[in-house]
Amino acid sequence: MAPPKIHKNFIHGEWVESVSGEAFENLNPANRQELVGLFPRSTAEDVNRAVESAREAQRSWRLFPAPKRGEILFRAARLLLERKETLAEQMTSEMGKVLDETRGDVQEAIDMTFYMAGEGRRQFGQTTPSELANKFAMTVRSPIGVCGLITPWNFPMAIPSWKIMPALICGNTVVIKPANDTPLSTYNLVSVLEEAGIPRGVVNLVTGYGRDVGVPITAHPDVRVVSFTGSTEVGREVSKACAPDFKHVCLEMGGKNAMIVLDDANLELAIEGAVWGAFGTTGQRCTATSRIAVHKDVYKQFTAILVERARALHVGNGLDRAVQMGPLINESQVQTVERYVEIGKNEGAKLLTGGQRLTGIAYDCGFFYAPTVFGDCDPKMRIAQEEIFGPVVSLIPVDSFDQALEVANGVVYGLSSAIYTRDVNKAFRAMRDLETGIVYVNAPTIGAETHLPFGGVKQTGNGHREAAVAALDFYSEWKSLYIDYSDRLQRAQIDNQ
Ligand code: NAD
Repeated sequence: MAPPKIHKNFIHGEWVESVSGEAFENLNPANRQELVGLFPRSTAEDVNRAVESAREAQRSWRLFPAPKRGEILFRAARLLLERKETLAEQMTSEMGKVLDETRGDVQEAIDMTFYMAGEGRRQFGQTTPSELANKFAMTVRSPIGVCGLITPWNFPMAIPSWKIMPALICGNTVVIKPANDTPLSTYNLVSVLEEAGIPRGVVNLVTGYGRDVGVPITAHPDVRVVSFTGSTEVGREVSKACAPDFKHVCLEMGGKNAMIVLDDANLELAIEGAVWGAFGTTGQRCTATSRIAVHKDVYKQFTAILVERARALHVGNGLDRAVQMGPLINESQVQTVERYVEIGKNEGAKLLTGGQRLTGIAYDCGFFYAPTVFGDCDPKMRIAQEEIFGPVVSLIPVDSFDQALEVANGVVYGLSSAIYTRDVNKAFRAMRDLETGIVYVNAPTIGAETHLPFGGVKQTGNGHREAAVAALDFYSEWKSLYIDYSDRLQRAQIDNQ
């Protein structure tokens, strides 16, 4: 067997070991005996070096013309496209999701990189009339400084790209810390940026644990912007850590996304959407469908077919082309799912299929769990309220459209929702009344595209959005410019009355 690949941090344009010299293991969740690689177990000292490098590099990067920044991003996007298959295979090895999905993850990074490259020639401001004669007024976007980016493991290349690309195109520099379950895909993304010609210090990668690397990033006085995607629990900590020196903070956190299936829905389409929404990425998407409010008139039929489809899913190693659902990310995630399944049973929900860890020769070395469906759930049950982040879906029978809306909105989260109906009036009411940042009509709760804003309301987010032009609003500050060419003092609100 080939020796494990030893990876390094990327600081000030160089690949360097961590100051501690220690490393942590990146394991394949489909086979934990397979070591994907070793990554630096970094500490505050590495963070300090990376931030210092980013701070220094920002002085010239902010003056580098934005269209030229865009050209580097275009080159990076093309390299990602050329290497898509290899990058996807490596991602499946470290994260577990099936190849179709890791190809999608890499594609999302490609889309985001091309999109933000284009923003190099846009980043439009406004010109507007002044209230005074012979005076000109306009707005421009200004870079902010060093951005600390902290990412989860479920979209190991897409999510880093959502943060890195808009930060760079706006003229900021970055220090990124990927999740320790999936550092390889972020490492690959940073390598591609290096190859595309990103100047020294503009992008820095520091790997390690949340407390060792994430905390020092959020506490560093020279980090002006923090963008975090992860659990609501950690997001709250990040928010507090950034408060004392008023860092800009974007928080993208947990979800408990509902699908509504009305009695006039195309049932076959709704079932297909439910299977993809609930069991895609093994339910480990922030937008995963984890509750389905089904009208009582179609509940029995919907449930029977959904259970049959869930049972038929082929679970296994995501590199196997025939596999439809991969493993969970790690042992702790398996235990979380096991705990919630017990909670569901004790709460009186009806376990219709799944509910156990998969065992046998194909499964014993990985973190495999059966696709699980609970029926007859009360919307107040914990399995219908709390994020599980696994292949578990709770079916909630409802009497009416209004009750379905109430159920969908009756959680602390607000990321994504979906409704299946052929009634245009109800579809429009749902689009208006569902309290989520994303609403799908006749499509599952997953499937965001990079040119639309992404984010959630309530305890999912803190009011910012990723992707699209909305991301530029987070990574830049508006500057208002007034140019007086009257050659005399003109006082606003006074001289023109
Ligand atoms: P997590 O909160 O455990 O970790 C996220 C990142 O934060 C990791 O890199 C981790 O090392 C780091 N971290 C941990 N403690 C920290 C601290 N005190 N200070 C700074 N950084 C710290 O989340 P996870 O388990 O990696 O990901 C799963 C969660 O992410 C789920 O709740 C899911 O809903 C959420 N998620 C949300 C979105 C979204 O856009 N809303 C997208 C994907 C995942």
